[in-house]
Amino acid sequence: MLWLVFTTGFCNLRCDYCGGSFPSKVVPYTVRYDIEKLKRLVEADPQATVIFYGGEPLANPRFVEEFMDRVRARRYGVQTNGTLYRLLPDPYWKRMSVALLSIDGRESVTDRHRGRGVYRRVLEAARHLKSLGVETIARMAVTQDTDIYEDVMHLLGLGLFDKVHWQLDVVWSPRWDFEGWAERSYLPGVRRLVDLFISELRRGRVLKIIPILGVVSAHFFGGYPGSPCGAGYRSVAVSTDGRVLACPIAVYERWAELGTVDGGFRLMGPYLAKECASCPYRRYCGGRCLYASIERDWGEEGFTAVDRVTRAYLDAVLSIIPEVERLVKEGAVRLEDLRYDPTEDSTEVIP
Ligand code: SF4
Ligand code: SF4
Repeated sequence: MLWLVFTTGFCNLRCDYCGGSFPSKVVPYTVRYDIEKLKRLVEADPQATVIFYGGEPLANPRFVEEFMDRVRARRYGVQTNGTLYRLLPDPYWKRMSVALLSIDGRESVTDRHRGRGVYRRVLEAARHLKSLGVETIARMAVTQDTDIYEDVMHLLGLGLFDKVHWQLDVVWSPRWDFEGWAERSYLPGVRRLVDLFISELRRGRVLKIIPILGVVSAHFFGGYPGSPCGAGYRSVAVSTDGRVLACPIAVYERWAELGTVDGGFRLMGPYLAKECASCPYRRYCGGRCLYASIERDWGEEGFTAVDRVTRAYLDAVLSIIPEVERLVKEGAVRLEDLRYDPTEDSTEVIP
């Protein structure tokens, strides 16, 4: 199971789609529970992947060290903005399997939303972490300034990221002309990336573009019973106040509270909204983001608008499945190389 462990609610940046720190009353800036109690829960899970989360998790590096010294997990990782990587000593980095670094693509796009100089600092972090043998994932927030093809190609071309993943700036921000932008820019760009994915596959190379690979994987390996991130059924978030949540964004929402570090917790199981239960895309999409599906911050119409774009993106990816099947059959690519489990990396697959 995936354990997203908050180290703090504080963040040293204020990226415009997120706004920065949580209020300390909601997600305290230091850890308030007894780590021994969390150790018992995590160590009872032989498949535990622990991903440090925040706020900016590296703003509390001593907790990361203490946790890694005391709590055994199969896999450790971090979701970080990349600017504070020096605060964690290298011996701890070397024990991490994966680092997800927030970067939106080209320098101008990244710095416009995250702050001047952030792009360069993230590249410096990626270079250092790769030199220590840590797998790196570029984690993009995609806005109307993004050219998805250009920005993904830029990140892949740097040679500093092993995988690329993105999330759309929908629902979290005020409503914008998302559909117009998707028609003009996003969906054509996604189709070009899908073309690239299949042409590389013909040469036996699997491009680790997670929104594509995760859907191809779902086709061959059974699909997602709920949100691909695993929220509430294969993944939990542990807040610094000791609450165990279904989703790390849902720090205010009662439906997301599964229990506490002190008292234990119960998984809620895979959730599917009524539209999703009968949807033909369900096994690939899993109802998308659990939080967005329950909260519907853009209203019903907004949910449907994002849904139309999601289906068009899924159609683009699914269009290559017959050829992927043929390539597997002919031995051009090993089926196992197409397997991707998002809960190993704490990615969401569906943007
Ligand atoms: S495509 Fe839309 S309706 Fe279908 S499973 Fe995904 S979110 Fe639900
Ligand atoms: S995809 Fe949605 S439900 Fe899953 S962790 Fe992210 S915000 Fe939470």
